Amino acid sequence: MNNFSCELITAYIGLGSNLEAPVTQINSARLAINQIDGVKELAFSSLYHSLPMGPQDQPDYVNAVMAITTSLGPLALLGGLQAIENAQGRVRKGERWGARTLDLDILLYGNTELDLPDLKVPHSGLAERSFVLYPLYEIAPDLFIPNKAALADLVAKCPLDGLRRLD
Ligand code: ATP
Ligand code: MG
Ligand code: MG
Repeated sequence: MNNFSCELITAYIGLGSNLEAPVTQINSARLAINQIDGVKELAFSSLYHSLPMGPQDQPDYVNAVMAITTSLGPLALLGGLQAIENAQGRVRKGERWGARTLDLDILLYGNTELDLPDLKVPHSGLAERSFVLYPLYEIAPDLFIPNKAALADLVAKCPLDGLRRLD
């Protein structure tokens, strides 16, 4: 290692939208994530249609998972993703799991485990959410979730809950 080398981490991002043309929101977010300095796309899942979690009086969701390599630290990556959420009109109304134009969550940041006030990785809902596990499995079937289990085992235990792949 010299002073100019920079560790590249593989990270996985969960994307979700259920307002203002969700498919367009997800595609725009993908382009924007690729524009973050120090981020490069490795893979992008199919788009999936899912039923809302939490409050049921909101539209269905479109979800996807993106694999990246990044030279950014985890908090800098989170900052970059939140800037994209804001740029795409995310309004935080204080209601948990309410409707949103765009949600970008860090699912995994290498094998790192973090429990900070603003960032938990692996993402705390990852192991129970079909709209995360199935797209993740599509692009990274051999993944092991730190301190949890093989992704394949989590998928096998997770009902689809209405999840379907969009054509
Ligand atoms: P959930 O995290 O259960 O999917 P959500 O995505 O709707 O819910 P947000 O309103 O997007 O929640 O984010 C709330 C806070 O969660 C953010 O301010 C962020 O600091 C924090 N957070 C903790 N861990 C993560 C993570 N792995 N990825 C993104 N945000 C995270
Ligand atoms: Mg979320
Ligand atoms: Mg979020």
